[in-house]
Amino acid sequence: MAEGTKDEGTRFDAIVVGAGFAGLYMSHRLREAGKTCRVYEAGTDVGGTWYWNRYPGARCDAESLAYSFSFSPALEDEWEWSERYATQPEILRYLGHVADRFDLRRDIRFERRVERAVYDEAACEWTVTTDGGDVARAPVVVMATGCLSVPLVPEIPGLADFEGPKFYTGAWPHEGVDFAGRRVGVIGTGSSAIQAIPVIAAQAAALTVFQRTPNFSVPAHNHALDPDWLADFKKHYREHRRFHRLGLASGFGDLEIEPKEFEPLMNSALEPDDETFDAICEQFWQTGGAIFLRVAQDMMTDEKANARVADFVHRKIRETVKDPETAEALCPRSYPMGTKRLCVDTDYYATFNRENVRLVDLQKSPIDRITATGVRLGGDADEEIELDSLVLATGFDAMTGALSKIDVRGVGGGTLADKWAAGPRAYLGFMVSDFPNLFTITGPGSPSVLSNMVTSIEQHVDLVMDCLAEMEARGARTVAADGEAEEGWVAHVNEAASATLMPKAGSWYLGANVPGKPRVFMPYVAGVGIYRQICEGIVEDGWRGFSFA
Ligand code: NAP
Repeated sequence: MAEGTKDEGTRFDAIVVGAGFAGLYMSHRLREAGKTCRVYEAGTDVGGTWYWNRYPGARCDAESLAYSFSFSPALEDEWEWSERYATQPEILRYLGHVADRFDLRRDIRFERRVERAVYDEAACEWTVTTDGGDVARAPVVVMATGCLSVPLVPEIPGLADFEGPKFYTGAWPHEGVDFAGRRVGVIGTGSSAIQAIPVIAAQAAALTVFQRTPNFSVPAHNHALDPDWLADFKKHYREHRRFHRLGLASGFGDLEIEPKEFEPLMNSALEPDDETFDAICEQFWQTGGAIFLRVAQDMMTDEKANARVADFVHRKIRETVKDPETAEALCPRSYPMGTKRLCVDTDYYATFNRENVRLVDLQKSPIDRITATGVRLGGDADEEIELDSLVLATGFDAMTGALSKIDVRGVGGGTLADKWAAGPRAYLGFMVSDFPNLFTITGPGSPSVLSNMVTSIEQHVDLVMDCLAEMEARGARTVAADGEAEEGWVAHVNEAASATLMPKAGSWYLGANVPGKPRVFMPYVAGVGIYRQICEGIVEDGWRGFSFA
């Protein structure tokens, strides 16, 4: 339980849960509008996902100049990003700077995990309680809880028996970990592992990577930002930001080619002859980053087109990885490229050429159990791999995990957990019917994790502020999503996903990584530009689908 002053029935205009990008910007906007607000944050400092994910090699795979706040040109001007893709420490420093610059810390209570949020219909007010004993009341609650904030503990037999240190990438020790001279095992090969593996391999005596499903990864081609280039870029920052908000690239940035080339270079990956096709793919590969998925218009809708691009990546893996068996094991084949989150790496595949690195393909040799001193493989392998340290890069209960952990009770005392038992339902991913005055920043049903999160966060926070202004203008005490509008939106989100290859992978987008979680495609696939236009249309239509009372 946290020390310090407690809120004891204190009343605020709004309560915000979380002090990452979303919570910080939300509290800033509320403050600017003259509203009182309390932010509860479980960590000891601001940062959200960037506070917890401190594993070696952690950096953002959206470009720094795009993955940063756009609301303050002065902030944009004064902050100097050092690299194309910022490291976790640099992003954390940035968020600390934002908190100080806008004096946001005084509204934040740290080391407070929100446990309950209960709506009182008569008073039109929420009561929020924390594990630090706070009780606070507010008409408005904003869930700024993040999409990837609840690390998953994998169900692997014997995990508790391991006697050496265990580290979760999503909850890494603040003091850092020295792997020098150690035999390290990494379980998982998602974005976190793919960033951590090359760095751990350079430190450890031996590294064993336990791979259940190979992931597609493209090179980051990260580099320091040239001060002259940066100064020139900043002259056109507004134009770039407009592109991030409205462009097809889901706000990711891709600064080295935009805004000149919005469109993918191929209408269809199936059209060009082999030489042209390879040259175009190579151009994207050399540019680096998640933009690779825009190489062809039909990349995410046509399986054959997707397979042709995947084959290009397989060839790149084979060219890089010297041992043919390891190279084959690293080639993803069981799902279309991009239907699991594309990874962006620095030297991931080349790391498997190191003498001290071994890949274990769990498809062939599954983990039988974890023992006190290592990992016992079953199947044909029948082998025990001795380890000193274990790294679990096993992912998150994504998008709904953080919200489901809070006991949220809306109209009639109904819980959010019950409402979402068969999968999340939210209007625009922004409000949930029967939970008035409760906003979910980048909630399920919004572009969120398929976009640059900062772009999407700013849009949702601005929408909250517009909604509160509308309430005031109408003299309303409550706003709620209509059940029918919510049903329609959920159907639209599903329909949009079904028109793509996205549901074809057992991804965390679908909840497939969490045993027992209902399989519902959670993010909205149409991109930030289309989503923003839809939201603007709804507002222009007098907040269609929302009821003010
Ligand atoms: P993840 O993508 O969900 O990867 C988890 C990995 O652990 C997968 O390879 C999974 O295999 C494996 N795994 C899970 N349970 C296992 C088990 N019982 N036995 C063996 N393997 C198991 O998680 P993540 O890497 O933390 O990334 C999550 C998301 O966070 C990313 O997709 C991205 O959106 C975000 N992220 C972003 C950055 C960045 O900006 N650079 C960095 C890190 C993360 P299966 O595939 O077989 O399930």
